[in-house]
Amino acid sequence: MKLGTKLIHAGVSPDPTTGAIMTPIYQTSTFVQNAPGDHKGYEYARTQNPTRDALQNALAAIENGKHGLSFGSGLAATDAVIKLLNPGDEVIASNDLYGGTYRIFTKVFQRYGIQFRFVDMQNAASVADHVTPQTKLIWIETPTNPMLNIIDIAAVAKIAKQHQLLLAVDNTFASPYLQNPLDLGADIVVHSATKYLGGHSDVVHGALIVKDDALAQQLAFIQNSCGAVPGPQDCFLVLRGIKTLHVRMQRHCENGEAVAKFLRSHSKVDKVYWCGFEDHPNHAIAREQMRGFGGMISFTLKSDDLAAAKKVLSQTHLFSLAESLGGVESLIGHPASMTHASIPREERLKNGLTDSLIRLSVGIEDVDDLISDLNTAIG
Ligand SMILES: *Cc1c(COP(=O)(O)O)cnc(C)c1O
Repeated sequence: MKLGTKLIHAGVSPDPTTGAIMTPIYQTSTFVQNAPGDHKGYEYARTQNPTRDALQNALAAIENGKHGLSFGSGLAATDAVIKLLNPGDEVIASNDLYGGTYRIFTKVFQRYGIQFRFVDMQNAASVADHVTPQTKLIWIETPTNPMLNIIDIAAVAKIAKQHQLLLAVDNTFASPYLQNPLDLGADIVVHSATKYLGGHSDVVHGALIVKDDALAQQLAFIQNSCGAVPGPQDCFLVLRGIKTLHVRMQRHCENGEAVAKFLRSHSKVDKVYWCGFEDHPNHAIAREQMRGFGGMISFTLKSDDLAAAKKVLSQTHLFSLAESLGGVESLIGHPASMTHASIPREERLKNGLTDSLIRLSVGIEDVDDLISDLNTAIG
């Protein structure tokens, strides 16, 4: 089955009692048993819920995995992955990460004795230099947020295999429409389904997808033991969002390209970060591992000061000033004060995340209107 078909049909089947074509929202905390231990596969809704099951099966299918696990948020999914580790273990993580991921690593798990090394992985081979006997996991995000760098997943996966390390890839920015990390050798795919998978800015949700049975079992144990599970209504919303991922992503990519080219041609714009440009430093890898370049773009202004950036941020009308990304509506954000405020300024600047950097999540509106909105705001 191809992706567009899987997005609509995988994991779901008509409700056996009524024929309802949409998976019902099983809003229940427990399930009645015929006799002790004699039940229909469901005992208590933290452990299993039929709406969640449908979503988890759909997630597994669309990432070419075998097992999907749903969580109350993307960070709850991240939390479950790090809980596979023990005190003293080390993680090698890419240095240009979602701010909340950086925060949970450094402010929460470091206190439990897990060490994180943040490495520029644009040269994938350099990752090997950071492996120690304590290293257990490599964590990457690609395209990176907000600099839109690309990391070579297959090359990092090779290093992970050589050293018997797990490789987790946060695939939130690309979505399974553009990239399938498990096919490139990753062990765990992480999603904030709050973004492109949900797609309508109406739900917070996270997911993990794996192929390996034993790893799935360990993660399901953590999911149930720690209990960061989503409610059935949220599972329903993500399941509904997934059904249109391919048509939305196609438009996000088209609009993203048009907006990136417009920005590049604007006299007041300095740098435009978008992995679809042929002179993007990792464009060749993007071409190799992705099926398109997406709708996430960052840019800076020639007058590289905060005031000029703030002016643009407050003068768009169709681009709403908000955190998050991946919804049908366009958003504009200021990483230094919003999504990445939890990363110390020196760390941010090292990665090129200047105070004037502006990030766009280009939505699926008519692109002429989006360009005219930006044109007016940039002035
Ligand atoms: C939003 C985001 C997360 C965190 O997900 P939540 O659903 O907000 O907890 C993780 N990674 C990336 C790349 C994100 O954009």
